[in-house]
Amino acid sequence: MSATHEVFNQVEPLVDVNLFAGNRAMQGALKFNAPGLDTSSLHALGDTLGSADMQTHARLANVFTPQLKSHSRFGHRIDQVEFHPSYHVLMNAATGAGLHGTPFSESEQCSGHAHVKRAAAFMLFTELEPSMLCPISMTYAVTPALKDNPAIYGDWAPQLTSRAYDPALKLWKDKAGVTMGMGMTEKQGGSDVRANTTQAVPDGADGWGQRFSVTGHKWFFSAPMCDAFLILAQTPSGLSCLFLPRVLPDGSMNQLFIQRLKDKLGNKANASSEVEFAGATAWLVGEEGRGVPQILAMGTMTRLDCALGTSGLMRQALSIALNHTSQRMAFGKKLIHQPLMQNVLADLALESEAATALALRLARSFDRAATDEHERAMQRLLTPVAKFWICKRGSHFAQEAMECLGGNGYVEEGGEGIMARIYREMPVNSIWEGAGNIMALDLLRALRKADAAAALAHELAPARGMHPALDRLSDQLPIRVEQMATEMEARRLAQDVALAVQAALLSQTAPASVFGAFCDSRIAGHWGHSFGSLGAGTDFDAIIARAQPRWDGDANG
Ligand SMILES: Cc1cc2nc3c(=O)[nH]c(=O)nc-3n(C[C@H](O)[C@H](O)[C@H](O)COP(=O)(O)OP(=O)(O)OC[C@H]3O[C@@H](n4cnc5c(N)ncnc54)[C@H](O)[C@@H]3O)c2cc1C
Repeated sequence: MSATHEVFNQVEPLVDVNLFAGNRAMQGALKFNAPGLDTSSLHALGDTLGSADMQTHARLANVFTPQLKSHSRFGHRIDQVEFHPSYHVLMNAATGAGLHGTPFSESEQCSGHAHVKRAAAFMLFTELEPSMLCPISMTYAVTPALKDNPAIYGDWAPQLTSRAYDPALKLWKDKAGVTMGMGMTEKQGGSDVRANTTQAVPDGADGWGQRFSVTGHKWFFSAPMCDAFLILAQTPSGLSCLFLPRVLPDGSMNQLFIQRLKDKLGNKANASSEVEFAGATAWLVGEEGRGVPQILAMGTMTRLDCALGTSGLMRQALSIALNHTSQRMAFGKKLIHQPLMQNVLADLALESEAATALALRLARSFDRAATDEHERAMQRLLTPVAKFWICKRGSHFAQEAMECLGGNGYVEEGGEGIMARIYREMPVNSIWEGAGNIMALDLLRALRKADAAAALAHELAPARGMHPALDRLSDQLPIRVEQMATEMEARRLAQDVALAVQAALLSQTAPASVFGAFCDSRIAGHWGHSFGSLGAGTDFDAIIARAQPRWDGDANG
C-alpha cells in the first residue's frame, strides 16, 4: 500500500524504567517507616520489573489465560490448571523476591523491617502484574497462621519460606518451594462465613494431629494449583480452620475437584475456581470451632496486600499518564503543560502518594505489633481503614488516569494498553478479602476493642499545628471515635480516619507542596467531586515533577 499519511504525535511507551529509582513517594515512606533499611535489593528489583522483557511476560500471562484440564485424554481426572510459560516466569520472580512466606524466615525477621521491605517489593511487583500475586499474597497470610499446627508448620515451613518456585504437582517434601491458598467463600455466603455448609467429619489422628474428612464446596477458590489450602468447614464443634493439601502424605491425590474456572472482569492471569470436596482429607489448625478468628488473622495480612496492591496500581497508572502527557501534543502544547491537565495529574499524584504513605505505614505495624502497643493498635485500626479507602479510590483513579491517554487509554493492546488492564483489575482489591461495607463495619469493631481514640490522637500528633483544617479534623476524630459512629456512618468515619492519617503521614514524608495541597483539597474541602479540581494556588509544577517516573535529579524531596 502506498503511504497515506505520516504517523506522528504518538508516544513512546514507558519501558526499561527503574520502578524504584523513580518512585520518590515510596522512598520517602521507606525512610520514615524503616529507617536505615538497605534498599539495594529494591533498586535491583525495580530495574528488573520495569524492563520491557518482564512487561512482555505480564502481557502474555494476561492474554493467554489459565486453562482447566479436568481430565486426561484417557478420561482420568487430573484437575490441573495449565498456564502460559510467562505466568511461571512471573511467579518465579515473585518468589525469588521473597514476596510470599519469606518475611517469616528467621534471617528476614532479624532485619526488623521484613514486612515493610516486602511491602515495598510487593508494590513494585504490582506495577508489573498484580493478578498472579494472589497465590503469593495468600501464602504470605497463611504461613504464620499455620503455626497453630506446629507439626504441619515444622514440616512445611522450609518450603513456604524458601525463595524457590516449583509448580510441579507432587508431594511437598519433594519440592523446592510451595504455595498455599485460602478457601472460605461458599455459594450462600462470603462475607458471612458462618453460613458455610461444608462438613468436616472426624477421621482419626496422626502426626499432623486431628484428621477430618471434608465434604462440600467453595464458590471462590483462587489459585487452585497451590500445594495446600487453609479452608473453613463445620466440624462437630462449629466452624473450624483446616489444612487441606492437594497431594496427601502417601503421595495420592486428595479428593479436591475443580469444577470450573471463573470468567472474571480482570485479574486474568490468575486462575480462580469453583471446587468441590468429596471426602477430602484435612487436618485441624488451631482450636476446633475457632475458625473465624483464625481466618480473620489471615485476612489482616491479605487486606494489607489489597492496600499495597491498589497503591502499586495507582502508581503504575500515574506513571503511564505522566509518560503519555509528557510526549503528546494538543492545541500547540504538550498535554502536561496544559493547565487543566496539570491539575488532573497533580491531583492523581497526591492521591497516589497518600495511598503509598498509608499502605507502607500500615506495613510498619506488621513489623512491630508484637512488641509495641501503639503499633498493635494501629495495625488493628488502619487495616480496615487502608483496605477500605485506598481500594475504594482505585477504580476512580484508574478511570481518570486512563482518560489522560484519550482513546489510546481505552484500547486493549500492548504498551499503553496496560491502562485497560489496570482499570479492569482495580475493583477486585475492593471486593475480595472483605468488601467496602465489611471493612467499614470492621473499623467499628476495632474502635470498640482498643483504646482507639487515644491511639489515633497519638498517631496524628506529629502534624499538629501544620494545617488548620487538619487540626480541626484531628480534634473531632477522637471524639467521634469515642462516641462510636453507628453502622450508618461507618463509611464516612473510615474515610475521615484515612484522610487524617494520610495527611499526618504526608506532613512527615512529603514536601510542603504535597502536604499543603492534600490538606487544602481533601480536608479543608477546596475540592470538587472529580480529580482535577485542586485550587489555583497549588504548586502544580513541584507536585508533578516529584511524581515523574524517570528521576532526573531536579525534583523536590
Ligand atoms: C476474583 C476473586 C477471587 C476470589 N478468591 C477467593 C478465594 O480464593 N477464597 C475465598 O474464600 N474467597 C475468594 N473470593 C471471594 C470474596 O472474598 C468474596 O466474594 C467476598 O468476600 C464477598 O463475599 P460474597 O461474594 O459472598 O458477597 P456477599 O457476602 O453476599 O456481600 C455482597 C455485598 O454486601 C455487603 N455486605 C455484606 N454484609 C453486609 C452488612 N452486614 N452490612 C452492609 N453490607 C454488607 C458486602 O460488603 C458486599 O458489598 C474471591 C472473589 C473474587 C472476585
